[in-house]
Amino acid sequence: MSQYPFRKEELERYSRQILLYGRAGQERLARAHVAVIGAGGLGSAFLPILAASGVGKISIWDGDTVERSNLGRQFLYLENEVGLQKAELAAQRLRALNPHIHVIAHAEHFTAAQAESLRDATLVFEGSDSLNTKFLLNDLALKQGFPLVISAVGNAQGHTMLICGQQTPCYRCLFEPIDENEIPRCATEGILSAFPAFVGAQAAHVAVRKLLEPELSGGLWIFEKSHCRSVSVKKRHGCICSDDAPQ
Ligand SMILES: [Zn+2]
Repeated sequence: MSQYPFRKEELERYSRQILLYGRAGQERLARAHVAVIGAGGLGSAFLPILAASGVGKISIWDGDTVERSNLGRQFLYLENEVGLQKAELAAQRLRALNPHIHVIAHAEHFTAAQAESLRDATLVFEGSDSLNTKFLLNDLALKQGFPLVISAVGNAQGHTMLICGQQTPCYRCLFEPIDENEIPRCATEGILSAFPAFVGAQAAHVAVRKLLEPELSGGLWIFEKSHCRSVSVKKRHGCICSDDAPQ
């Protein structure tokens, strides 16, 4: 765990970030708890960046085990780890990457029953492949007030959204719940290795910036093949995040 003042090796490790945000910024990261829902393709890019940046506590929620078909894009896992729990493996890898941080593995899918575990979260990242989980986290973020970064990726398009409590549009302002079976899946649609890494890395950049600059407001980024654009969004009338929401 990080201690204050930082040890010499930590100052060296984080020296390039400290040039930008000072020791106060680095301490802000060290004191943060980021909960990560999903350690698949998006999480494989997101998690190492958070660990390398020096986020002091990272909790990982994923109930899946590694499948051989994951290895083409989920770079956290090795050939000889097929069949093992992703959350445990991801936590081991992050601890090896940065021994100065605290990493907790939850080898289960996040459900409403675990909502209380996010009470001390500074920020949450939702990068699972379940739309229902994204809506669940959206609603918890509105209720509990933590900043939430949601990412999703398909073969042709991906997106990242930063939601900051009631002040910004929420995920339900943009997306309607649909049957989980209608969502395009990597298993049937296919995906190139770099695409989830590209979206996951950008989500990590948004998350770290939000931790360093709490005043940063929400946003939406759309990814199409090899480019990304920022899109401005407004609250939808009648949405649960709006003042005119039906009671
Ligand atoms: Zn909304």
